[in-house]
Amino acid sequence: MNHQDALNNPIFKIVAEAADELGVSTYVIGGFVRDYLLQRGTPKDIDVVAVGSGIELAQKVATKLEGAPQVAVFKNFGTAMIKHEGIELEFVGARKESYQRDSRKPIVEDGTLSDDQNRRDFTINALAISLNSHDYGTLLDPFNGLIDLQNKLIKTPLEPGITYSDDPLRMMRAIRFATQLDFTIELNSLKAIVENKERIKIVSKERIVDELNKILSSSKPSKGLGLLHKTELLPFILPELTALQGIEEKEGQRHKDNFWHTLEVVDNIAETTENLWLRWAALLHDIGKAPTKKFNKKIGWTFHGHEFVGSKMVYKLFKRLRMPLNDKMKYVQKMVMMSSRPQILSEDFVTDSAVRRLVFEAGDHVDDLMTLCEADITTKNAKKQKKYKNNFKIVRQKIQEVEERDHIRNFQPPISGEEIMTIFNLRPSKEIGIIKDAIKEAILEGEIPNEYEAAKDFMLTKGKELGLKSNL
Ligand code: ATP
Repeated sequence: MNHQDALNNPIFKIVAEAADELGVSTYVIGGFVRDYLLQRGTPKDIDVVAVGSGIELAQKVATKLEGAPQVAVFKNFGTAMIKHEGIELEFVGARKESYQRDSRKPIVEDGTLSDDQNRRDFTINALAISLNSHDYGTLLDPFNGLIDLQNKLIKTPLEPGITYSDDPLRMMRAIRFATQLDFTIELNSLKAIVENKERIKIVSKERIVDELNKILSSSKPSKGLGLLHKTELLPFILPELTALQGIEEKEGQRHKDNFWHTLEVVDNIAETTENLWLRWAALLHDIGKAPTKKFNKKIGWTFHGHEFVGSKMVYKLFKRLRMPLNDKMKYVQKMVMMSSRPQILSEDFVTDSAVRRLVFEAGDHVDDLMTLCEADITTKNAKKQKKYKNNFKIVRQKIQEVEERDHIRNFQPPISGEEIMTIFNLRPSKEIGIIKDAIKEAILEGEIPNEYEAAKDFMLTKGKELGLKSNL
């Protein structure tokens, strides 16, 4: 089968010419070929395999490109990379790999194209297209990857037990590809993943998180999360989520299964935002429910304080997975911490002061918080669904009204501490804090508007109450 169409980019002719001059057989392989056959848009990365030195080929290609771009050489890996017109071209020499039990880093030897295809993770990732003049554009598909593409199957070229045991990262990759492409993992593969689940321990946390992020960034993350659960990998990665699974019944009262509920919430949010960290917040918003779950004869199941406990767990989870402990983590913590607030608001009559407090505390993240809470509506009761959505609409409207009037979102005190000190002739002291706090409270409660003159009058009255003399 000829696939010259895949090679429309003029770069391929240049690679072919360079390879010809060096006398090495060369192929484009992996994700580029897969995504071309799936018509998944233009890929950013092109992997080229040379039966010989990938580094020498890269260097030759660079001399033929306009501006002779730099070649990044990774000697230890025997690979080289060129960035050209927004594309990353990766060059590697064809290789044969063998593995040791305690590491996912193989022992590498030079090999043939066929050896190189054997070491690939999935049949759909082992597809290669020739760049050699005698069969330019020919698809080389020793494992029937094309059929698997058509049947939407994730399958390993060799025996799955060996493939996953050799490099357990492939278990995560299988689940990630199944999620991104909406493919099915072939049954033998699925079984082999379950058998090798413990081997995930030798994979670095960073690589696991990379794959998790890709699963979460897909259009239906529940597919991957469900597969992580089904293959029993989840307890090794996110035990906090596993702990949410199951329904308990006491005295005829049941609570919902918070694991499957969470997956629905993540899918819902994936429809409205690309923000990875908001998707993480959706994934973790209920993790505090497992440790706080209690049964009370009168009111049934409760999860008191789960938001606070959950936000503390976010820190531990990020730390364990070596995720960044920066503003992104704090953002996720804040979302988890505040995740029930709009609900409580929408249940009762919404007062302006409650809305002002919400906006004050959520700050710039108030819209994200509303998005999270709307995604949290998973009731199957159409009437309730409509009612909750409508309630949130009212909360959103209120937020807008209050915001236009009171500008609370990035609250800056209308009177500074310095001004208070000057007016009352004060040195730094606790009275300043008391007055500042009282002004803030009065604004949030709606006793005074968020304006300078009103705040100043209020401050003078408050000062008097505290027995302070003003010099106005
Ligand atoms: P994407 O860019 O969407 O992640 P990709 O297939 O290009 O897809 P890469 O991680 O860039 O993914 O890998 C390029 C190719 O290298 C893959 O298509 C596959 O053939 C091979 N490969 C990558 N990782 C592994 C692995 N752990 N085991 C075996 N082969 C692998």
